Amino acid sequence: MLTTSENRVESGAKVLESYLGGKWQAGVGQGAALVNPTTGDTIARASSKGLDLSAALGYSRNVGGPELRKLSYSQRAELLGKIADALAARREEWFEIARRNSGNTKADAMIDVDGSIGTLKYFAKIGGKLGDAHLLRVGSPMRLARDQTFQGLHVGVPLDGVAVHINAFNFPAWGLWEKAAISLLAGVPVLSKPATSTAWLAQEMVSAVIAANILPLGALSLLCGSPNDLLDHLQLGDVVAFTGSADTGESIRQHPRVRQQNIRVNIEADSLNAALLGPDAAPDSAIFGLFAREVVREMTLKAGQKCTAIRRVLVPDYHEQAAIDAISALLKMTVVGDPANALVSMGPVVNMAQRKSIAEGVARLKTRADVAYEPGDFALLDADAGRGAFVAPMLLRAREKSNDDVIHEIEVFGPVATVVSYRDKAEAFAMAGRGGGSLAASIFSADTAFLAEAAVALGTTHGRLLLVDPTIGDSHTGHGIVLPSLLHGGPGRAGGGEELGGLHGLWFYHQRVAMQGSATTLSAIVAQAADPAAE
Ligand code: NAP
Repeated sequence: MLTTSENRVESGAKVLESYLGGKWQAGVGQGAALVNPTTGDTIARASSKGLDLSAALGYSRNVGGPELRKLSYSQRAELLGKIADALAARREEWFEIARRNSGNTKADAMIDVDGSIGTLKYFAKIGGKLGDAHLLRVGSPMRLARDQTFQGLHVGVPLDGVAVHINAFNFPAWGLWEKAAISLLAGVPVLSKPATSTAWLAQEMVSAVIAANILPLGALSLLCGSPNDLLDHLQLGDVVAFTGSADTGESIRQHPRVRQQNIRVNIEADSLNAALLGPDAAPDSAIFGLFAREVVREMTLKAGQKCTAIRRVLVPDYHEQAAIDAISALLKMTVVGDPANALVSMGPVVNMAQRKSIAEGVARLKTRADVAYEPGDFALLDADAGRGAFVAPMLLRAREKSNDDVIHEIEVFGPVATVVSYRDKAEAFAMAGRGGGSLAASIFSADTAFLAEAAVALGTTHGRLLLVDPTIGDSHTGHGIVLPSLLHGGPGRAGGGEELGGLHGLWFYHQRVAMQGSATTLSAIVAQAADPAAE
């Protein structure tokens, strides 16, 4: 293997093949390099050049779809359980890949890997409750006219196309399975495209599931490397579920084929999530400590590379310095370095390009904010700052509220957050909304009335709100953790999408049809349908 001091390639670097049309296929040429962000070494390559994506989509539609839809919801749910078991059996291998390709510590990798297995298990369980049905329904037939026998019913028919899933680099496992689980449960075959930079884990997981022969042929395909002309071949019945940056999301929405064919698209994009400390929270209170702990956890888990991570820290002006001190004291304990060392609590970001983008984002934030905390001596454990994509955790403090637009606009996808002080609760709520539509906000207060008021005030601009009072201080699942039972997605710049939400998520993969007919005809349809809201 080629080895130079500038661009080292690990011996045995893998070529990531795509699984399309029921077979593994390699693209032509070298393709893109996947690196170990701790060392900078190339560990794999992926090319999709020359792959026939039109044929691949056709195979999913014509082979995978019909085979999947021969099964009932509960039979498909059973397949999800088998996928979860096959993946769970190799957890340690996934952690290793996540460390080498994503720079994940064990705790980082667990969110991705265990999150994906848990999501599959969850849908295996609740999907089973839909029983032998092949359709969805909303409630029961309703009378539409004077004649009682003329009735109406909303029915969901599984789409007969293919679900194209395009994922971001930060969750190669969870991004793949949280989307695939619900699509497969719906009876819609999946063509998944992981972000190239971290596609190795997705590729190995799909390979394990294909080798275990769990799914019907054509139910699951994988494209490693650039999307090329993938979207040019979409047609009626296909959907696109995308997670990634707002810019790419917009280019997908504006893609001529997507527009002409009115392809259903779900976008999960970037977000300026906030944590809001209630006006009641005194520096020596339990809730204050819980708030500081959560901010630091969000800044450092996966080195801040979570779409839901806290970027803006909103605190009452009279506690601004105390909040900065508490957060800084915890940040000081962060050990940055090679995630192979168990003492390391934060690894590198995904690659040098990401490190550069963080530096550029921080420079823009600094036009409106001052540094409140950065490590004096940024020493790495077992790692070389010249080769690895390491970033020091940094806390900023907004300078003037009248001139702080940048703080509410720039998503720095790394271990960086900005403290912004508010005068009163009206200003706090308005500031949270200035993110332009966010995935999540968390509010910390011991005052239930304040939490309830904040929840309603932030409701129109957020997809999820975590309302922490001291009674759930140690039991809540965390600001940044997406649960399969609850909706994931946010309005505005967060993409305007909705994923998961338990069985509600199935509707994205069904055509909702208003059926009108006689009571007898509608009961024949009801006999094949399950009501997900009732399960
Ligand atoms: P990205 O650059 O937008 O890429 C996302 C995916 O889109 C990748 O698979 C990429 O493929 C693909 N892609 C790029 N151009 C495309 C095109 N023209 N047509 C179709 N697909 C295209 O985002 P990223 O850098 O991977 O992820 C970081 C961003 O994602 C952050 O802004 C973060 O906030 C956001 N994010 C959001 C969520 C959420 O749930 N809302 C979750 C995670 C991340 P290649 O890799 O091959 O270029």
